[in-house]
Amino acid sequence: MTVPATMKAWVLGDPGQLLLVDKPVPRPAAAEVLVRIDAVAICATDLQVISHGFPASIGGDLPFNRCFTPGHEYMGTIAALGPTVDEYAVGERVAVEIHAGCGRCDRCRRGMYTACLNYGRSAGDDTKGHRANGFTTDGGFAQYAVNHINTLVRVPDQVSDEVATLIVTAGTAMYGLDVLGGLVAGESLLVTGAGPIGLLAVAVAKALGASPVILTDVRDDRLAIGRRLGADQTINAGREAVVEAVRRATGGRGVDYVFECSGAPGAVNDAVHMVSRGGRVCLGAFAHEPALVDVEHIVSNNIYLFGIRGEGQGAVRRAAALIAQRKIDPSPVHTHTFPLDELPTALRYARERIDGAIKVVVKPQARATSPAGPA
Ligand SMILES: [Zn+2]
Ligand SMILES: [Zn+2]
Repeated sequence: MTVPATMKAWVLGDPGQLLLVDKPVPRPAAAEVLVRIDAVAICATDLQVISHGFPASIGGDLPFNRCFTPGHEYMGTIAALGPTVDEYAVGERVAVEIHAGCGRCDRCRRGMYTACLNYGRSAGDDTKGHRANGFTTDGGFAQYAVNHINTLVRVPDQVSDEVATLIVTAGTAMYGLDVLGGLVAGESLLVTGAGPIGLLAVAVAKALGASPVILTDVRDDRLAIGRRLGADQTINAGREAVVEAVRRATGGRGVDYVFECSGAPGAVNDAVHMVSRGGRVCLGAFAHEPALVDVEHIVSNNIYLFGIRGEGQGAVRRAAALIAQRKIDPSPVHTHTFPLDELPTALRYARERIDGAIKVVVKPQARATSPAGPA
């Protein structure tokens, strides 16, 4: 595959400002490959990074005016190999995990590379080898990116580029279920919030045998997609008293597990009142305000609370296996596709949820002359 010297890439200027520029195509170092990006999905966290900077950080500073390219949920084709790479070949289709841990800290050694103790030490003289593409190093709103081989997952031929961008989202859902205890077959799970992670958590949990899987949200169209992905029961939290509804659905006992994906105010406190005694709650959403929770209830009921960052423990590879075996089909979550030049429009669709947008995908090899708009 011929690799050009320069590429089109969006870079973050001031808060909310994105500029389309020519950048040198990056070169893969040892244990890295160059990925030609074929598709990149927009995540709520990208919207947060573009407007507020956090949780992205370049060399410890906010990522504004640093020639930084955001975007982290991408897939593509391997275009070149760095020194020592024989695990992959040029031309293979891959999806990517976001985090490459340093591989040398205690958390990385235990598989918790999304909680790497050298997080952000990615560049210059201070590099420890950590990368979180789209957060601490350049990401996917561009035509090429470099990735450590540990972050690559092969994409089967029958999976489209657009669906392949959802592999990492399904991986986050898988990691949340891991942290909750993993073997969820025959156990009840409540997913709160029908964003992409919540919807894919429903699909992954059903594929792993959880029963029943209950989904809550305030939007009926999202709940309908949750039912297509396998939810046994949905509850509109805008119309029903959700804690009472969940307790009623479980004979008063509460669910075995809650996966909180809404970030809504009050969600954590509701979660601890919907889980059974001795149950487990995983928090997977960035909430924007501190939560007030009933600690007495948590302690007296032996409830476990977990927080997850991203997708550790090889969860993305395992989620990809469920997609490859057609045990889950994330395609209802993908709603729109735009070419690279139209990233600002794509971001607007994602932010304002125009035309029922859920996952909006940008195709960096396509230019504005190619077909665009609703997928
Ligand atoms: Zn994301
Ligand atoms: Zn580490």
